[in-house]
Amino acid sequence: MAPTPADLRKAINEAIQAARDDLRKVSLSIHEKPELAWDEHHAHDVLTEYMERQSGFVVTKHAYDLPTAWTAVFTSSASSKEGEKVPVVGFNSEMDALKGIGHACGHNLIAIAGCAAAIGVARTLEHFQLPGKVVLIGTPAEEQGGGKAALLDRGAYDEFEACLMLHPGTSGGGKHGAGNMTSAALIAMEVTYNGAPAHAGGAPEKGRNALDAAVLAYQGISVLRQQLPKDAKVHGVFSGEDKWSPNVIPDEAKLLYGVRSTTLTSLAEVVPRVLRCFAGGALSSNTSYSIKRGHLYHEVRPAKGLSDAFKDFVEAEYGDDYRFLERVETGASTDFGNVCFKCPSLHPMFFLPDATPEEHPHSASYTKAAAEESAHEAAIRAASALSYAGLQVLLDPSLRKRMWAEWEEDMKVAQGDKALAVLDKVLPASKEGEGGKPGSFCAFDKCACGH
Ligand SMILES: [Zn+2]
Ligand SMILES: [Zn+2]
Repeated sequence: MAPTPADLRKAINEAIQAARDDLRKVSLSIHEKPELAWDEHHAHDVLTEYMERQSGFVVTKHAYDLPTAWTAVFTSSASSKEGEKVPVVGFNSEMDALKGIGHACGHNLIAIAGCAAAIGVARTLEHFQLPGKVVLIGTPAEEQGGGKAALLDRGAYDEFEACLMLHPGTSGGGKHGAGNMTSAALIAMEVTYNGAPAHAGGAPEKGRNALDAAVLAYQGISVLRQQLPKDAKVHGVFSGEDKWSPNVIPDEAKLLYGVRSTTLTSLAEVVPRVLRCFAGGALSSNTSYSIKRGHLYHEVRPAKGLSDAFKDFVEAEYGDDYRFLERVETGASTDFGNVCFKCPSLHPMFFLPDATPEEHPHSASYTKAAAEESAHEAAIRAASALSYAGLQVLLDPSLRKRMWAEWEEDMKVAQGDKALAVLDKVLPASKEGEGGKPGSFCAFDKCACGH
């Protein structure tokens, strides 16, 4: 007889509770040694060693030629008996921390939540002798760099029916809970201005001031902000001060900028206007410039079918003690948005019951909150629900059909390809492996710069 939803929930709970204490140790080990994007070597080692100890998982370290990416793959024994293609569900474990403030985004909790969810699915498939495959990917560089974009390019998500991950959120006000977070589309860019150095007192007329170019662009963007749609965010900093001296006209200056908007489509409308400000800085100061495009994150678009399965679990297991929100607004951005444009995906944010309102992600005080026992409990609870949603993907063909139909419709609404074409035209992507070769850009339809 096929297991009931209650049977499945029980099996998941038992599997994840059995792993709970070891996962706490893994989480704290990652938390104690925060590592920046693309440099998550300790987290990579701790997580892969942990997953290697889980029976039936095949672990690949340094997966897809990315030094800190990894996979842990479980194919149930009932799958091999069937000898045919089985459905595949994916989970993600992020690992990176923030400069100066450690795990202030709580990726230690995300990392172990991914492990818990994958283990819950694997043990339940085995317990009931059901076919299915689960792939857990250790995904580097979420805070900057876009590890998932690199993994998508390498085909890491190609066989997934769905992909799921969790992220810790703000204070739960004493209660456990979760909700589907929204995220903004984001493009990062590095603008380099080049001028000519000169003695600032002796021969300033011979100089071309790259710092002036950057200042003018910065001010241009500050003025532009008033006319931007309210959801657009443009934020940046100057870089290059180690080369500057007050008595030398600076011949190089950089601007590091991020542009965000609710969707890729609205981002594609804002970016050309920001680029004109960069061009304006160069024109006014008679300097040259180039722009290197950084990571491009799509907006998160949660799959309703997965969200419903997650909700079924929390309602049945946690009842009124658990708050579930269909939508949690955030202005943050994540490369998991890119995954949402590949397959039906879910990215719930779980609340930390004991965090204070001041302890929000990316604040220094959140680092401490991410190591609390109650935060671990919150991660475990949400991971159990995530595991159940992932398991339903493998077991329920009607859910898969519904999810994909809804995803196709949602992609028509999102019009991601159209927006990407605009962005690629105005600011071509830097090529991987070329050390971030700058994409050249001219902001004006007709100009003298020859492109
Ligand atoms: Zn973050
Ligand atoms: Zn984060």
